[in-house]
Amino acid sequence: MFVCYIIFETIFMINIFKASLTEKKQLTADVFLFSFDLINPDKIEFEAGQYLILKVNNQPRLYSIFSSEENKKSMQLLVKIIPDGVASTYLTNLKSGDQVEFQGPAGAFKLQQNRRDKIFLATFTGLAPLYSMITSCLKMEKKLTQPKLYLFWGLRHFSDICLLDELKQLSINNQQFKFFICLSRETDLSKIKDENKKYFKLGRINDVWQKFNSQLIKQCSNVTMKQFINNFDYYLCASRDVVESLKQYLIEKGIAKENIFSEKF
Ligand SMILES: Cc1cc2nc3c(=O)[nH]c(=O)nc-3n(C[C@H](O)[C@H](O)[C@H](O)COP(=O)(O)OP(=O)(O)OC[C@H]3O[C@@H](n4cnc5c(N)ncnc54)[C@H](O)[C@@H]3O)c2cc1C
Repeated sequence: MFVCYIIFETIFMINIFKASLTEKKQLTADVFLFSFDLINPDKIEFEAGQYLILKVNNQPRLYSIFSSEENKKSMQLLVKIIPDGVASTYLTNLKSGDQVEFQGPAGAFKLQQNRRDKIFLATFTGLAPLYSMITSCLKMEKKLTQPKLYLFWGLRHFSDICLLDELKQLSINNQQFKFFICLSRETDLSKIKDENKKYFKLGRINDVWQKFNSQLIKQCSNVTMKQFINNFDYYLCASRDVVESLKQYLIEKGIAKENIFSEKF
């Protein structure tokens, strides 16, 4: 079903973009941030959460757009490099100025048109479409009713940490955005600078999210946990297995299916 959907989109997608690499920034041992300038056409209209189809010979690969939908002349991809992977090898070999071809934008993983508070749950490069959603949301005209945005980003080790300064800056500049980097394979936070400790938690994203609810609900009166957690929309992005188990977890906690939106890598 999923494969048919991708094939359908690939066949009927008419927009082809030529872009040139402007920066290839290595963030961790296996994660890179690739920045491209659009050449022809020279701008792209997309909705945060959507992906592009990278042409690699005859083997297309899908990548969620990391940058904000406000950026129309350039865009960024956050990519985990798989050893000997077709697109991974192609991307890592790119040099500044090299041209690539994308199709798209495509995909139905988008922000719902509402002002509900939002929980974002991602692991590893699953952050990409969520980061685009968060930055796009924060750039919208500031209003008193601007939704609160909470990101729970799952990584394993200290060595996986990246984009901390970018996330901190977003959070400092936007009171309604808070984030937690959740380290599932570390046992203490001694390696994290004191000033950054508030941005880190130990454990898996679902456990951290649950503890967070228990704290937050104390500020509300006359509301059950089920009512409280259904005040949010949930945006999930990770590998297929992780998204499936997270979805199951959220549903078991009493979250209505219609409040959960997801993308599987
Ligand atoms: C909608 C969508 C959006 C996506 N967005 C992103 C994104 O923003 N960033 C990103 O990094 N990826 C993203 N992906 C995954 C991406 O499309 C590729 O599958 C991935 O980059 C591997 O491609 P490759 O050609 O390098 O490896 P391949 O040549 O396809 O695979 C080589 C080998 O590695 C295995 N493999 C594939 N993926 C992984 C993995 N993640 N971990 C471990 N082993 C793996 C394969 O099973 C195979 O054995 C997305 C996928 C989808 C469906």
